[in-house]
Amino acid sequence: MKLIKDVDVQNKRVLVRADFNVDLDEQGKIIDDFRIRAVVPTIEYLIKNNAKVILMSHLGESQGKKDEKLSLGSVGEKLAEYLNCPVAKADDCIGEEIKKQTHEMKAGEIILLENLRFHQEEKENDENFAKELSKLGDIYVNDAFSVCHRLHASVVAITKYIPSYAGLLLEKEVAVLKKALENPEHPLAVVIGGAKISTKIKVIANFLDIADNILLGGALANTVLHAKCLAIGKSLIEEEMVAEIKNFEITNTKIHIPVDTIVSTDTTGQGEVRIAPVGKTKEDELILDIGPETKELFVRIIKNAETIVWNGPMGLFEKENFAHGSKAIAKAIAESSAYTIVGGGETICLINELGLIDKFSHVSTGGGAMLKFLAGEKLPGITALET
Ligand code: ADP
Ligand code: MG
Repeated sequence: MKLIKDVDVQNKRVLVRADFNVDLDEQGKIIDDFRIRAVVPTIEYLIKNNAKVILMSHLGESQGKKDEKLSLGSVGEKLAEYLNCPVAKADDCIGEEIKKQTHEMKAGEIILLENLRFHQEEKENDENFAKELSKLGDIYVNDAFSVCHRLHASVVAITKYIPSYAGLLLEKEVAVLKKALENPEHPLAVVIGGAKISTKIKVIANFLDIADNILLGGALANTVLHAKCLAIGKSLIEEEMVAEIKNFEITNTKIHIPVDTIVSTDTTGQGEVRIAPVGKTKEDELILDIGPETKELFVRIIKNAETIVWNGPMGLFEKENFAHGSKAIAKAIAESSAYTIVGGGETICLINELGLIDKFSHVSTGGGAMLKFLAGEKLPGITALET
């Protein structure tokens, strides 16, 4: 992978693919600007080195057409605050007018292009669209790790038409995750929770050879319990995954599944909530969190680790009654002196709510991209920078 540090950016128009896909509230206000902050060092680096910076991103899902609610305007304002300098906002991301604007830029200036997904060609990895984008810059920088698993024009096709480099954030994401896979400090504990085992089973399988301990919690552990013929009541599971899990080494001693759980007859948190030893869930109950003994067991393993990789909450943490397991795990990892890597949309929401986001060694901006990378798969956006 070629890096921006390896190229002279002075006076060059640098076209940066960032991921400014932030959550907006109903008034269009930014709820969480973690992804915006993550790209700031690359922009600052480019400005310090007298580049002309052209930023591009997608935001939400606009079905290939213009949608004012998904304009990057508020992102531009937020960026200007963080950078403490003006960020000009373009009305589109391709076209003659934009080309003219970018060719007239002076060193140190910043232009933010409009939402790439206002053009359906972006998601189609369209060659012509990519070529049009490439005309705006002298060089291209990918600093959007979280979209590197997507075969999109601004991520993959564009690299055919313009010299292409990895930005500081992408470089760091790749280096950190590569180290976790290739030469982590041991003991390595991998904590996987969240909704669906189907989205994470490859990560678990890949870490079986690498990790010392794999801790499974959250709804995805329910499918594993079910595969082991333990009663899970009416918990939601992925029946179609049972055969694969059985195939897979569920008896591997590195894998730790809950020994007790928090159950209730409904997900509201209003009904009766009780602790149930694993296998003792009643038919009308759902498993909604890990229990106290599991919490203790998991925390002990976490305390003993030198590297920790965490993705996915331990229960339905959005409800106070079912958040204790996730909170305890979050705190234990945050307090650990190990090298700690955390990622995942809901997981980041959780650590943000707990005010712990700055307590981890590395918070990955990639949800799906991180899972793909940790599963040992190639990401097309990264491969495109290697050729
Ligand atoms: P991430 O985005 O961090 O990778 P996921 O998307 O895989 O995490 O899953 C997060 C969701 O899983 C949360 O909304 C949480 O409420 C839900 N969840 C976790 N455990 C359970 C459970 N036992 N029952 C129901 N939902 C659960
Ligand atoms: Mg999620």
